Amino acid sequence: MKDYYSVLGVSREASEEDIKKAYRKLAHQFHPDKAGGNESKFKEVNEAYQVLSNKDKRSQYDRFGSAGAGGGGVPPGWEGFSGFGAQGQQWNGNFGAEDLGDLSDIFEQFFGGQAAARARPTYTRGSDIEIHAEITLEEAFKGLSKTLHYQTYAECAHCAGLGYEKSKGTKKCAKCQGKGEIREERQTFFGKFAQVRACPDCHGRGEVPNEKCHECKGTGRVVKQREAKVEIAPGIEDGQIIKLAGYGEAGEFGSGSGDLYVVVRVKPTAKYERRKADLITEKDISIAELLLGNDITMHDVDGTVFQVRIPGGFNVREALKVTGRGMPRFGSFSSSSRGDLYIRFNLKTPKSVSSKAKKLLEDLDKEI
Ligand SMILES: [Zn+2]
Ligand SMILES: [Zn+2]
Repeated sequence: MKDYYSVLGVSREASEEDIKKAYRKLAHQFHPDKAGGNESKFKEVNEAYQVLSNKDKRSQYDRFGSAGAGGGGVPPGWEGFSGFGAQGQQWNGNFGAEDLGDLSDIFEQFFGGQAAARARPTYTRGSDIEIHAEITLEEAFKGLSKTLHYQTYAECAHCAGLGYEKSKGTKKCAKCQGKGEIREERQTFFGKFAQVRACPDCHGRGEVPNEKCHECKGTGRVVKQREAKVEIAPGIEDGQIIKLAGYGEAGEFGSGSGDLYVVVRVKPTAKYERRKADLITEKDISIAELLLGNDITMHDVDGTVFQVRIPGGFNVREALKVTGRGMPRFGSFSSSSRGDLYIRFNLKTPKSVSSKAKKLLEDLDKEI
């Protein structure tokens, strides 16, 4: 991953104002329309600014740092998400291009402006949404497919997202004379630019409806109960996020939906402490069991029974490691790949000792 701080030439402690200043200077220097401009540098500077100018993204970037996995902000250990096969369920690591504040001009000129001239702009797509899905440790152990219900904007069925009554037709937009776009000259700190942008009245269509859709009041979308099925792979950890592309809010006028981010919460249990794929559990044991080295019956998270033998010379104050009896390793897809189980034994001493037992213990003590 690139070091965004060095891209902007600022220190990691730089203030918001410093970052903005550094960005303005570099964006000005590398702007592709300038003599000596450099498009790839310009894009790099923009990318760095998008991250560092946003508090949340900056702190995320700071936490996972330049040492993190490649691709722009995928926290280490999340590579497993690419393992999801179904319908684009993966975290692509991209940050949105929103929130550029008063600097958005630059983008309009460079990106938006060109885009407007090339293709008529549409509406922005719907927002992304985030929901939480709570599962048990056992479900995380086995993996599951979960159906989620949530309320969001969905395309208006009456007008198929158009926002108007199709049968009533449309008429030519008066503002842009049907061209769908408006040319403007704008003075910015880069100099004067001719800008082509979408007509605000017809949103680039060149036509305006004669009658708005009554179901959606002309927006092309309505609030609805939606359903999404998410496949949760075995070994998923608390806080992991699964992306369901296109399951977010529908945009206005059929302009495409945002994405749904499902934050998986794994409920803690009293029986196990989890450390990634490893599990720690406690088990009561008697002195006799410890000394005799009998097999001890244990259970996997899903209830599968297995036996553990306590090795000779075992120090009861240490946890006994049972290789391969922890949680499945997330994203490994090999059922045999599991973390380890650590058993902490609680030595149960009898409350009272009979005279017979006392005698036996004394004999035992002499023997060993
Ligand atoms: Zn228009
Ligand atoms: Zn409608």
